[in-house]
Amino acid sequence: MAEDEDLNLFVQWRHAAPGRWKFCPLCQAPLTNHDWDGKSRRFCPQCGFVYWERPLPATAGIIYDAAKQNILLVTRRYPPSVGGYTLPGGGIEFGESVQGALLREVFEETGLQVVIDGQLGTWSTPSNETLITFFVTHPVGGSLKPGTDAMETTWVNVHQAPRLAFSVHQKVVQLFLAQLALDQLE
Ligand SMILES: [Zn+2]
Repeated sequence: MAEDEDLNLFVQWRHAAPGRWKFCPLCQAPLTNHDWDGKSRRFCPQCGFVYWERPLPATAGIIYDAAKQNILLVTRRYPPSVGGYTLPGGGIEFGESVQGALLREVFEETGLQVVIDGQLGTWSTPSNETLITFFVTHPVGGSLKPGTDAMETTWVNVHQAPRLAFSVHQKVVQLFLAQLALDQLE
């Protein structure tokens, strides 16, 4: 694919494979490849800069209204999976804690202020490009309003939730349902 074929910047920012990096971000010399521990990495022969590719850290939350047994889903506005349902969440900014990122993303996407009740775990996406830490939260303030990343926000009964666009989100909802069932036994 020609590099100028897809001008959708919302897609490109997270899918620029290291092989497409051409110039050193520090000294602007052309990058080359160099092997470390059997892995080829983009390397600047002029200043020594190495591009260590890492997964993108992200976070997402189940916002649970226990009285109604509802969870809040957002409808995606941007690729991938435009129009699909997901849990609210997003990337962690540099300088931000994972919990702080969750509270910010939930507020940006839904308009709600939430409190974190617990952590469900951290999983890689199927491509291993993103690493997502999931929390359980409940709303304490704000007013429901879809943000720029979301087309809609929808409360759904947790036992009748539609299929989510991302398999990891789907598994986390299943895990949450299993935890709710265990809580019922206590
Ligand atoms: Zn350089």
